[in-house]
Amino acid sequence: MSGQSPSVAVVTGGSRGIGRAVSLLLAERGYAVALSYVSDDAAARAVVEAITGRGGTAVAVRGDVGVEADVVALFEAADRLGTVTALINNAGVVDVAARVTEMSAARLQRMMTTNVVGSFLCAREAVRRMSTGHGGRGGGIVNVSSAAARLGGPGQYVDYAASKGAIDTFTRGLAREVAGEGIRVNAVSPGIIDTEIHASGGQPDRVARMGPDQPMGRAGTAEEVAAPIVWLLSDEAAYMTGANLDISGGR
Ligand code: NAP
Repeated sequence: MSGQSPSVAVVTGGSRGIGRAVSLLLAERGYAVALSYVSDDAAARAVVEAITGRGGTAVAVRGDVGVEADVVALFEAADRLGTVTALINNAGVVDVAARVTEMSAARLQRMMTTNVVGSFLCAREAVRRMSTGHGGRGGGIVNVSSAAARLGGPGQYVDYAASKGAIDTFTRGLAREVAGEGIRVNAVSPGIIDTEIHASGGQPDRVARMGPDQPMGRAGTAEEVAAPIVWLLSDEAAYMTGANLDISGGR
């Protein structure tokens, strides 16, 4: 990286769960990290302190990925650290278990705005900076999808599963759109991962309940998702774009 400004990774929802693990690993690999979060200041601060405490560079930016002005502000903060070369579209939400017949418009709009529109807005800002067509240095984008896109989430959260189905198509389309501009776009599809997202969907016992039924006999960890994400960004995956890695323990 000598002679060049530092490479910056933007990690949405980088304060907890999978995003936290990704932020820590990217910092270890030499990236300056601009992470976003929406409400939990203490968790975000703890990740920044963990990175800076080890000599790395990080900033946490409070903002909703579904709000355009917040996304622009996140990338402006990232620009102040160096050159954005990586985006991990990780921020995502679930909702309480419900059948489609029970889903309000407000629920559906929140789901699609956060999980889908948010990923588009962040990718837009990233591509504008990374594209060699715009004078950029190139880079990598990893979208965090879910095994739910394949399973459909019946009786639980078909809305969430459909939002991740949109992410899968978005990944394939954007990958091809920017393949000639030095940008690789890939996705990962985690299965049951031990984070707080299950509690936010009203099922704090989901990992304990469903983990033993997985083909590998357990749920995955955030770190086990972070490592393939960081690998997809690396030169070892230089010929991969539009791919979607299952990280589901065989689910
Ligand atoms: P998590 O533990 O609930 O963490 C979510 C993170 O996203 C937090 O940092 C949260 O910020 C942030 N966030 C939530 N809404 C946001 C918004 N509107 N704008 C910006 N940031 C927002 O979730 P996780 O389990 O790590 O999930 C991360 C991704 O993996 C999601 O896309 C999820 O769909 C996907 N995934 C998870 C699993 C699983 O089993 N855990 C499986 C498949 C896919 P605050 O801390 O401020 O709330």
